[in-house]
Amino acid sequence: MAPKRKAMTIALANQKGGVAKTTSVASLGAAFAERGLRVLLVDLDPQACLTFSLGVDPDTVEASIHDVLVGGVDLADVIVTCEEGIDLVPSTIDLAGAEAFLLSRPAREYVLQGALDTVRKRYDVILLDCSPSLGVLTLNALTAAQGLVIPMPCEMLSHRGVGQLLDTVRDVKKILNKKLTVLGILPTLYDGRSLHAREVLEDVGDRYGLPVLGPPIPKTVRFAEAPAVGRSILSTARTSKGAQAYRKVAAALVPEPAA
Ligand code: ADP
Ligand code: MG
Repeated sequence: MAPKRKAMTIALANQKGGVAKTTSVASLGAAFAERGLRVLLVDLDPQACLTFSLGVDPDTVEASIHDVLVGGVDLADVIVTCEEGIDLVPSTIDLAGAEAFLLSRPAREYVLQGALDTVRKRYDVILLDCSPSLGVLTLNALTAAQGLVIPMPCEMLSHRGVGQLLDTVRDVKKILNKKLTVLGILPTLYDGRSLHAREVLEDVGDRYGLPVLGPPIPKTVRFAEAPAVGRSILSTARTSKGAQAYRKVAAALVPEPAA
């Protein structure tokens, strides 16, 4: 039985593109849904990759997160229910204009928080898929979330930008959202055969003084195949190492109640 408490809201952010934010949101969402938790995923990227990967065509979406943030439409009215029992707040390319619109608004960082407050009781977990920037949309996500997960590939250059993200988190905690906690770095695109990848994995927690979530998500072609059919790797390759890794990370983020 799903508990009646309010949703745990987790943002997945890293202003670098291609670090597996969207893949992680879709896969963790599916892992939570498998456990019977009520899951809402929010696509905050104008590129709408999460929307697409959940089988929703961004070009045919009637109302999206853009309408919520810019048009004041109720968030509940734009939710779409997808495969695997997951609810989605879709995005469209219109969202690209939201940054500029919000910039001229007072309390612009709080719009998403207010919109999510109206549905938090209906869900156990809400995951926010951020765009590759530290702009107003990402600040909205960090303001609306209790937890932040930073997906990071295990390669040297992936470090670039994490310090800047953590500076932003520090400012957000001071000014916008005292409750924000960095839950950890999520190592992604991990190739265990590479000595370099293993060294990066060893070092990253100490370097930033942050927990490292695990196990690391292995690099596998399975992940490229899943979005094309509108489902996550958890149902297209149920027993793959990648699916198992995401299930374990999901269990670390929101522990399963003792039976
Ligand atoms: P972001 O949202 O950070 O830009 P994505 O989740 O879109 O990143 O992932 C970027 C690319 O990497 C996508 O093509 C995705 O299919 C691929 N990818 C993500 N995770 C893995 C993985 N574990 N193994 C192989 N490819 C992956
Ligand atoms: Mg993405």
